[in-house]
Amino acid sequence: MHQPATEPRRSIYYHYQVHQPWLVSQHGPQPRHKVVIAGGGPVGLTAALELARHGVPCVLLESELQVSEGSRAIVFTRRSMEILQQVGVADRVTQHGLPWRFGNSFYRGQRVFRMEAPQDDNDRFWPMINLQQQFLEEFLVDACEAHPLIELRWGNRVTGLVQHEGHAVVEVDTPEGPYTLEAEWLVASDGARSGIRALLDLKLEGASYEGRFVIADIRIDLPLPTERLAFFDPEWNPRNTVLMHREPLNIWRVDYQLPEGETPEEALAPESLKARINAQLELIGHGGKPWEMDWCSVYSARTLTLPDYRVGRTLFMGDAAHLLPIFGVRGANTGFQDAQALGWRLGLICSGQAPESLLASYSQERVGAAWEIIDEAGKSTRFMTPPSRGFRLLRDAVLSLSLTEAFVRPLYHWRTSRPHEYTESKLNSAGDDNALFQSGPAHGAPPANVRIGADDFLLDHLGGGFDLLVFGQGVPADVQAAVQTWKDKGLRLRVLLIGQGSAAEGADVCLPDNEGRARARWGVRTDGAAYLLRPDQHVCARWMTLDAHRLNAALKQATTGVVQ
Ligand SMILES: Cc1cc2nc3c(=O)[nH]c(=O)nc-3n(C[C@H](O)[C@H](O)[C@H](O)COP(=O)(O)OP(=O)(O)OC[C@H]3O[C@@H](n4cnc5c(N)ncnc54)[C@H](O)[C@@H]3O)c2cc1C
Repeated sequence: MHQPATEPRRSIYYHYQVHQPWLVSQHGPQPRHKVVIAGGGPVGLTAALELARHGVPCVLLESELQVSEGSRAIVFTRRSMEILQQVGVADRVTQHGLPWRFGNSFYRGQRVFRMEAPQDDNDRFWPMINLQQQFLEEFLVDACEAHPLIELRWGNRVTGLVQHEGHAVVEVDTPEGPYTLEAEWLVASDGARSGIRALLDLKLEGASYEGRFVIADIRIDLPLPTERLAFFDPEWNPRNTVLMHREPLNIWRVDYQLPEGETPEEALAPESLKARINAQLELIGHGGKPWEMDWCSVYSARTLTLPDYRVGRTLFMGDAAHLLPIFGVRGANTGFQDAQALGWRLGLICSGQAPESLLASYSQERVGAAWEIIDEAGKSTRFMTPPSRGFRLLRDAVLSLSLTEAFVRPLYHWRTSRPHEYTESKLNSAGDDNALFQSGPAHGAPPANVRIGADDFLLDHLGGGFDLLVFGQGVPADVQAAVQTWKDKGLRLRVLLIGQGSAAEGADVCLPDNEGRARARWGVRTDGAAYLLRPDQHVCARWMTLDAHRLNAALKQATTGVVQ
């Protein structure tokens, strides 16, 4: 019988709420559900909200009775915030988080590289915002519990799975014993040690790295800005790397690499932690300041992914699908994009507006994203923790040269997580004018935000389904008629007319573009140009001029994956 911990987890700054387990005896017979999600971490919770946004009810099974232990993922990117905005929790993250955009790399006491993440007046969110994962999960839980289409079942652990032609049978263990649950689709977001991956005997592909890091969260009052700090080869930890991040509530994350051969038990011994953190504080000129430990763990970098995120009726996402190094803040940030990419597709499939084969593009796009991230993260990881003598020689040469030679300093760049562009997606329109545009978001790219007013941005107006952005003074009559036909068939599709502040026929939303900002960011030169965005806001078609025939072809391709 599954017995999750009922004692609140320990933390000096976060108050853990222990939720009541969901018990089948209090609810009666279980119908077959459209979607069951296994795992209520940040990715599973976001997936539930995404599905709900697309009108799909779901049951979310979470093994524990409380949110995750320790701060874990602490840096969330702008794209994550744009996704969290759509599921309604970005405001709370903004309210509690610490935004930032600079990173500093130090070697031999000298700052050798200052990373500056681009920030544009047209973006609503900062490039990065720091917040402990427990807070983010709490905000997502609150949003899930408030949503009538989501049933969050605490203390429910998936222990068995049998897949059939059109559904899956899930065995669930609870504090009062097991029950079974049928679902048309099972979403596996049960984390790095995914039991569902094991039940289906699936193997991850990729590499694991030798270097181990201690991750320690301490409370200390340091008069330093919210900027990332990286120290290479510091005197107290020769040949190794140390990272520091400020978190809300005077918590600081200190990540330090362990000397070769040291075990996690040795590393987490209180004397060892104390000596090393004191040494690091000494290094930054704050030795002797009082601090207290909140949470610590040992971490090693892995760059692994499943080769296919659809296995029968089961769809993988988040850490259950891929394991990515924390350098470059890739874990949770990548998972949000998985959740967003799956949500709208399942929405269309469950409402009968798209064939199941559309899911092939989910796997193709997100496995492609994982491999791109693995490639980039591998470079950062090899720089942080050189895996062989050759890599170390090269890394050390860069470090030494960087003291005097500016040209090598960009090699320190951290390659922060960025959204994958689905350039090769089968959903990108085959007959549009993508190649004719000289700038602006191309096939498969995420959207470019645009400031419209003091607290008003273009992305605030997108939502829920496909968005057709028409630049100019009006929407052509044949396009209006085509849009109406799709709407009548039940497709969520909205027309945004950009450049026309007042109401116009056939436009659901009219937005002014007085300074031409939208045209500049979207690479539009003439009236009549248009973009079609999928419900996850990625571009699937763009035209210099649009007519009903071209729009129909693009929408058919984006909802089936088949070129029309
Ligand atoms: C020690 C540690 C430190 C980390 N530090 C960082 C960091 O600094 N930066 C960063 O970007 N990322 C970090 N990560 C990674 C980040 O936390 C993950 O990428 C992120 O949590 C992935 O979210 P997820 O929802 O896919 O998985 P998880 O957060 O692992 O959530 C999985 C959920 O599934 C539940 N579950 C598991 N099995 C079952 C089951 N059989 N049935 C039902 N529920 C189940 C679990 O209880 C959990 O709530 C860290 C991870 C760890 C473990």
